Amino acid sequence: MTNLSGKTVVITGSTSGIGLGIAKGFAAHGANIVLNGFGAPDAVEAAVKDTKAAGANAVHYNGADMTKPNEIEALISDAQKIFGSVDVLVNNAGIQHVSPIENFPPEKWDAILAIILSSSFHTMRHAVPLMRAAGWGRIINIASAHALVASPYKSAYVAAKHGMLGLTKTIALEVAQDNITVNAICPGYVKTPLVENQIADTAKARGMSEDEVVNTVMLAAQHTKKFVKVEDIAALALFLCTDAAQNITGTHQTIDGGWTAA
Ligand code: NAD
Repeated sequence: MTNLSGKTVVITGSTSGIGLGIAKGFAAHGANIVLNGFGAPDAVEAAVKDTKAAGANAVHYNGADMTKPNEIEALISDAQKIFGSVDVLVNNAGIQHVSPIENFPPEKWDAILAIILSSSFHTMRHAVPLMRAAGWGRIINIASAHALVASPYKSAYVAAKHGMLGLTKTIALEVAQDNITVNAICPGYVKTPLVENQIADTAKARGMSEDEVVNTVMLAAQHTKKFVKVEDIAALALFLCTDAAQNITGTHQTIDGGWTAA
């Protein structure tokens, strides 16, 4: 296990769900954590408190909007200024919108592409030089089973997540000799606020009840019939930061209950 104590981990979209779970996972190894994401002040405060309680060496919150390249640049440079390095970058921020193509609002398309795909480009273009200078780095892109297979009514999300895999592979090759690895994690359904919100929208789009959406749409694809746990995704992200994972780069790691095996 690489010693993560005192290393700095920047996680986009980490005020909730998977990102917060990953933050707590790295905190438990004594890392400095940079939290990012939206939320009411008390929710953000609770995320900071929980991450500290999980064992973080230090926690800094930066509310950069992942649709704004200048704020993304400041997120990375703040982390460097405050903690002296950006050792691990986790691109996790994401939103969803479920709608048939003919009704898909163009502004939702733009926002989803910006938050999921373009923000990962911007964080990486600022973090890679810092990792190169430090001689070590790990980049983990939280993609999705939807980076590998499609579902109807999720055009922007599926396109952005497929794009994220292309970006992962490209940057992995560019930094392969710099002791930096770049990988994607592709979870199936995880019961986070993002998915809770989708249940109602999918029910509407497909003319189904919410129970039918859970059982016949979400868990139908997941052959284990279990939602993926946030803690299991954090454990996989931590493994990708170990010395044993130094030759794992440019890959996608599925954690989807067999969804994409079918
Ligand atoms: P979530 O809604 O709980 O968390 C999303 C996070 O992104 C929040 O912290 C939110 O504030 C942040 N965010 C949204 N817009 C932002 C913006 N413009 N700038 C900065 N931060 C912003 O969702 P989640 O389920 O934890 O999803 C996290 C990631 O995991 C997403 O990329 C999602 O696509 C991916 N994912 C989720 C699932 C799932 O089933 N939940 C499955 C596969 C992949």
